[in-house]
Amino acid sequence: MLLPILRWPDPRLSQPCAPAVLDDDLRQLAADMLETMYAAPGRGLAAPQVGRLVRLFVMDVTWKEGARSPQVFVNPEVLALSGARLTGPEGCLSIPGPVTEVERAEAVHLRWTDLEGTRKDAWLTGFAAICAQHEYDHLDGILTLDRLGAEARALAEAAVQA
Ligand code: ZN
Repeated sequence: MLLPILRWPDPRLSQPCAPAVLDDDLRQLAADMLETMYAAPGRGLAAPQVGRLVRLFVMDVTWKEGARSPQVFVNPEVLALSGARLTGPEGCLSIPGPVTEVERAEAVHLRWTDLEGTRKDAWLTGFAAICAQHEYDHLDGILTLDRLGAEARALAEAAVQA
């Protein structure tokens, strides 16, 4: 089922999310979020973006170039960041319009639970690392706009499509 995507400045996008409980409801939410992400189209979507304030995000960073490889991250934790700090363009489905320049770590060590309840742990690099840091921020109520300086933020806010 396609879910409506909340748009900034909806206050729910700025709230920290509660731990997710892995049950059938959460599995359905993850499936709906993937469907919504592909339709948007986007490469990542966090639960608060569809109004559910739980620590869950979905991601597929390569589907636009080939086959789908959906990933679901339940209760992700950032264990470490490493490598250079890179500044690159990021869009957000909740902030249509501006592409913002956000600084991120080159690599992120993430721990999470998958939909089968298996604990996972991996270093993500490349675009996956950037996307995961972006989606993880959503779980703490942090948007790309919050990572900009005052001037860049004002420009980005002015560029948000009504
Ligand atoms: Zn976003």
